[in-house]
Amino acid sequence: MNQTEQWFSELLSEHGITLSEEQLHQFDTYYRLLVEWNEKMNLTGITEREAVYEKHFYDSISLAFVKDMTSIKRLADIGSGAGFPSIPLKICFPDLHITIVDSLNKRIQFLQHLVTELKLEHVECVHGRAEDIGRLLEHRDSYDLVTARAVARLAALNELCLPFVRKHGVFAAMKGADPADELKEAKRSMFELKAKPLSSHHLKLPFEQSDRHLILIEKTSGTPSKYPRKAGLPLKQPLI
Ligand code: SAM
Repeated sequence: MNQTEQWFSELLSEHGITLSEEQLHQFDTYYRLLVEWNEKMNLTGITEREAVYEKHFYDSISLAFVKDMTSIKRLADIGSGAGFPSIPLKICFPDLHITIVDSLNKRIQFLQHLVTELKLEHVECVHGRAEDIGRLLEHRDSYDLVTARAVARLAALNELCLPFVRKHGVFAAMKGADPADELKEAKRSMFELKAKPLSSHHLKLPFEQSDRHLILIEKTSGTPSKYPRKAGLPLKQPLI
């Protein structure tokens, strides 16, 4: 085990997540493929091993510190980019059934290759806009947990992500700096999309010590038929 893997496993085990050799190997393969494909396409600005493990892998898994992943069956990750947060969560919690949605086909191709190389089962990678995919019956009002990290401000994100959440399911928005203003701004979108704030959690990355905020939002009933509006509108004209 190298030094990075050492602190990574130790910090996760403090949160009750014990990684096997196979899981550590999966993270190592993920790191290598991310750096290799990043030379051909823009996947991440972070390529140094320590930083990828801290700012992408550990940060993604931190959602499991505040939300019990063993109670989740279906998870959708909207705007997953290079697979964050859903792929690190899937490696740690192999029973999860994951749907990834991203509007950039190159990233979906990377993710499909990654899923094959890591031998992950029950991971579906969907190319498309959340506004369109969230209207399809098999995805609408269906997921126990929906995640989005670094995709848009909360008012727009609510319209992109909440249509995927089942009644009493949860949307987890993973944010950096204090999202108090975003939360205020998101009141109308939450009301329109039939959801209410559940809890908000402040964490810090272990070495860099930068702030992270996890906002959990509960869906209270089915998505009204007018949402999401047509592709592009939630970002251009957020419900504020
Ligand atoms: N979640 C990843 C992370 O934390 O590293 C990626 C963040 S990246 C800044 C935002 C991603 O959202 C991009 O991959 C982009 O293609 C995707 N995206 C933006 N708008 C979208 C939409 N309306 N539907 C689906 N994906 C979208």
